[in-house]
Amino acid sequence: MREKTKQKEIKHEITPMFKQYFEIKSKYPDSILFFRLGDFFEMFFEDAETVAPLLGLVLTKREAGKNLVAPMCGVPVEKSNFYIQKLIKMGFKVAICEQVEDPSTAKGIVKREVVKIITPGLFLDFESLSAKEKNYLCALYLGEKAGIAFLEVSCGEFLFTYTSKEDFLSEIIKKEPKEILLSKEQANDKKLKELKNYLPLVKISVLEESSFKIRKDLEIDKKYYSQNEFKEALKAVSAIIKYVELHQPDILQKIESPNFYFPQSFLYLDENTKRNLELIRNRIDNTEKYSLYWVLDHTLTPMGARLLKEWILYPLQDVEKIRKRQEVIKFFIHNENLKEEIKAYLKKIGDMERLAVRCILKLANPKELALLRDSLRLIPGLKNLLSEEINQFNAPSLLKELYENLEISNELYQKLEKTLEKNPPHTLKEGGIIKKGVLPELDELKNIKENSIEYLNQLEKEEREKTGIPTLKIGYNKVFGYYFEVSKSYKDKIPPYFERKQTLRNAERFITSKLKELETKILTADEKIKQIEYELFLKLREEVANYKNELKNCAKAIAQLDVLISLTETALKEDYVCPEFTEEQMLVIEEGRHPVLEKIQGKENFIPNSLYLKNGEQRLLIITGPNMGGKSTYLRQTALMVILAQMGSFVPANYMKLQIFDKIFTRIGAGDELVKGKSTFMVEMSECAYILKHATSKSLVILDEIGRGTSTYDGLSLAWAIAEYLYKKKIFTLLATHYFELTDLAKSFKEIKNYHVKVKEWKGELIFLYKVEEGATPDSYGIEVAKIAELPEEVINRAKEILKKLENQHIKKPSELKTSEKKQ
Ligand code: ADP
Repeated sequence: MREKTKQKEIKHEITPMFKQYFEIKSKYPDSILFFRLGDFFEMFFEDAETVAPLLGLVLTKREAGKNLVAPMCGVPVEKSNFYIQKLIKMGFKVAICEQVEDPSTAKGIVKREVVKIITPGLFLDFESLSAKEKNYLCALYLGEKAGIAFLEVSCGEFLFTYTSKEDFLSEIIKKEPKEILLSKEQANDKKLKELKNYLPLVKISVLEESSFKIRKDLEIDKKYYSQNEFKEALKAVSAIIKYVELHQPDILQKIESPNFYFPQSFLYLDENTKRNLELIRNRIDNTEKYSLYWVLDHTLTPMGARLLKEWILYPLQDVEKIRKRQEVIKFFIHNENLKEEIKAYLKKIGDMERLAVRCILKLANPKELALLRDSLRLIPGLKNLLSEEINQFNAPSLLKELYENLEISNELYQKLEKTLEKNPPHTLKEGGIIKKGVLPELDELKNIKENSIEYLNQLEKEEREKTGIPTLKIGYNKVFGYYFEVSKSYKDKIPPYFERKQTLRNAERFITSKLKELETKILTADEKIKQIEYELFLKLREEVANYKNELKNCAKAIAQLDVLISLTETALKEDYVCPEFTEEQMLVIEEGRHPVLEKIQGKENFIPNSLYLKNGEQRLLIITGPNMGGKSTYLRQTALMVILAQMGSFVPANYMKLQIFDKIFTRIGAGDELVKGKSTFMVEMSECAYILKHATSKSLVILDEIGRGTSTYDGLSLAWAIAEYLYKKKIFTLLATHYFELTDLAKSFKEIKNYHVKVKEWKGELIFLYKVEEGATPDSYGIEVAKIAELPEEVINRAKEILKKLENQHIKKPSELKTSEKKQ
């Protein structure tokens, strides 16, 4: 690159500015270079040609040297965030090259430098970030273990963990990072390719292996250095720090210190389960509509919305913690007035979390600081609301904890209130930020600016009286500035301290030291005001940053309060009950419903169903019945209710009692078009293999059809063997199947039971009753369902004929397969 540039320079006698441009651009070949020219960021050559059509900008030209014309496009600096955000979303990196010296005093070409590189994972523009979503930068290192680190700069979150080499996908996919850092050597790992299938928009940034070298200066407990299992995780953390250092050195010192978390302490949900159960997004268009989050989200603050997603993806395993959440929900159900009053506060609270972080990172502009102030104003009132309740003996302990954290220094708030204007602008250097009464010098300048005419009139009056010249008047011109004009008739009265500047035909013009002083004040007041306000603002922002911990804790407490109230709202609106936890191995649901379907179809159109799983009685259910009969729905609602229960929420049922589950696995449907390069059957089998390997006696396994992608006997045999295996390992399992033969399993194993979804035939029509009842049904009504799907009548009739023939031939059923086990 540099060589090429040199050749270009010699051949074209490149202008000095373009020489500078090439020099800088050569260091950032993989970024779009935003080159600051006055009030614009300009892009040149290939960058301009690539970007102009994407951003809808006009491609122009600029002379770059002898016979060298640079294609060019540009955006105004003020609006640059809008364009940067678009480019970042398209997966580009943007290098911001600023003028780093004052153009008015610069000798020759103004010095320019790249001050930061914005990448999808290091994107901090407050207004462009999606408020209800986190924006993670992830680093992954594969060794004996998979080390993972996540940085969410805008929320001040830095996490690290490790998983086995098999499990890292689910951990990464859960957080939906916008960018993943990989080492050159590992970028082609087979499993990593799958990441792109799950996260098609993620930017993969490949780094030299050396970027993953463990740093010695990580702000973490020493124990992480000494234990081998953290090795890869520390490499990932180090890579993130290196990346920040290279791209946004300004914020490096201010990012959080890394925190370790253990995925195993939460209810484990693998990537298929997250997708199959449509926890955060639906599978059709990948939006949040019709997801579990969509049902639960009544949050009123952005940090609440973000935390709710986290609670859904990380349900707990700690019963005490779950109970604490339940207690708060119960409390709000019984204190509806208080809940409504709190909601009124939450509605007005902005994104305190990100605003506080912006202060810490020295990025907040005056408008953002004002937004933070407006949120802080509400905290004492909110705290006050809770104070009476909190002191009652039965107040929920979690609510007490939150109450304690709702603490913001009054001094800080008062300072903001006194210093910052009510509605300051986005800009830092245009004034309008600082209130009167903060600094006498600033007040005086503002006074001068506002009252300059009065000051001049006053001086005019004074001098008239002093000199006794009644026609003395002050005027202004560009050459001399302000002056006193005296008509020639009063020539004798001119005092000695009047300094002559200009003689006209009938008059003379003078200045005095006082007038000059006033003139300087008036003419420079505006500039000085802007400069002083800018400095005061920086100081104020710095002071806010000093309250870092308080602000973060308070934002976290508000987020939790918001989520708990949101869950209360859902419980009340949707008629949920509080689930009970037990040490026994059991999962009992009475009249359970699918939270999303009942909301879409209307409660009155949804048929509730019960479920009974208990160790020693029944552990594995084989569910048969026709397509469209409601099997899948029943399976999914069970898994969803377990997730809801363990996240501390109430559940859509009349009653639910359950053990703490450690993992939920789901193998649902064939819609695996995402996982390219594998046949549907192969995908199904790999998923099953994964489940069989990882499920424990505390897990819940949901299998919606297995063994369908191969010949009947193959498939059936596999399904049979898989069911036997799960049964023997005492894993609670729901298995929906079209293999009626599988219902024979119940004959061999005591705790396997058959259930079916009920249908009715009426006047030749099939009616779905959606009721799950005990017993098996041999009827799969495939042809009837095909009829509903409007297959041509000719095909339907022919299928009926064939079916009859087949049935008459008494095809030997695989149910005659004998299990190797006696009834157990
Ligand atoms: P299957 O898995 O047996 O093919 P699904 O569970 O996919 O059937 O259900 C098909 C459709 O039937 C659902 O989309 C829903 O509209 C309806 N349905 C399922 N279960 C119920 C229910 N309990 N109450 C009302 N409608 C239901």
